[in-house]
Amino acid sequence: MIPAGFEYHRPGDIASAIGILQEHGDEARVIAGGHSLIPMMKLRMAEMGHLVDLQAIDELKGIEIGADTVSLGAMVTQHELITHDGLAEAIPLIREAALQIADPQVRYVGTVGGNVANGDPGNDMPGLMQCLNATFDLTGPDGSRSVAARDFYEAAYFTARDDEEILTRISIPVPGAGVGQAYEKQKRKIGDYATAAAAVMVGNGQASVAMTNLADTPIWSESASNALADGDISGCVTAMLSAIDPVADNRGPVEFKKHVAAVMLRRAIERAQSRAG
Ligand SMILES: Cc1cc2nc3c(=O)[nH]c(=O)nc-3n(C[C@H](O)[C@H](O)[C@H](O)COP(=O)(O)OP(=O)(O)OC[C@H]3O[C@@H](n4cnc5c(N)ncnc54)[C@H](O)[C@@H]3O)c2cc1C
Repeated sequence: MIPAGFEYHRPGDIASAIGILQEHGDEARVIAGGHSLIPMMKLRMAEMGHLVDLQAIDELKGIEIGADTVSLGAMVTQHELITHDGLAEAIPLIREAALQIADPQVRYVGTVGGNVANGDPGNDMPGLMQCLNATFDLTGPDGSRSVAARDFYEAAYFTARDDEEILTRISIPVPGAGVGQAYEKQKRKIGDYATAAAAVMVGNGQASVAMTNLADTPIWSESASNALADGDISGCVTAMLSAIDPVADNRGPVEFKKHVAAVMLRRAIERAQSRAG
């Protein structure tokens, strides 16, 4: 319950935040909503001398809806994702998934950037962003670069982000009319991480499928996506089951998780198809 002591920083712009990260190296960590980081600090599983709060940086805020692309500031909260009407119209999948994350209080402060940067395979947004083929914008001491969500996750808590880089925005191609979307999540109770969850987009001859909490990273499968684009649902499920690699834990043994994964995927496909066209 009691975190170790730390120094608190509240920079007003990205350059200052990066300067603090550079100055303190491994000793510093950015904090967004704090609803993954603070629980870890309270358990003393994360200890750092300097916390760099991103709340005062306006460049990290705001939802922009373009004709082809949606841009989410890293500090946009889950609550903002849910209540933004333009976003619900452009990419309904995001609201549907955000409503299945945590609980109202966590969603008031938990951010989309924190959810995707965290690197916990239990987080729901990473698989969702892979399904949507999102791109993450990172800014560090050497400038800015973009990394595809599908290339970002390396292992549990290891991502393509360097320690001194800040995730600034998430860019998502608008799927467009005729593309059905669905997020199906099986969990033990409200606020639980998924036993298995599936994000699906399908329509206009295209398809994309990603799974949550069934490996040490989110899993997007090209062959599962291609099978679904061809209308081969069984082939899609088979391909996805060979791509995931769940481990037994208090959510169940491996065989159970594979079973639930297949059920979630089939349900998500069915619902996405019913919304397509
Ligand atoms: C009770 C409870 C239930 C939850 N249930 C779920 C759930 O069902 N599904 C789910 O997905 N999540 C769940 N969460 C996690 C919650 O959604 C977190 O808030 C979220 O994962 C992290 O977002 P945050 O803004 O709180 O990030 P923080 O906790 O502030 O940060 C998390 C990590 O990301 C890094 N980080 C944050 N922002 C940036 C950035 N812009 N650039 C670089 N690094 C950054 C931080 O340094 C830290 O390492 C739950 C949390 C709680 C407390």
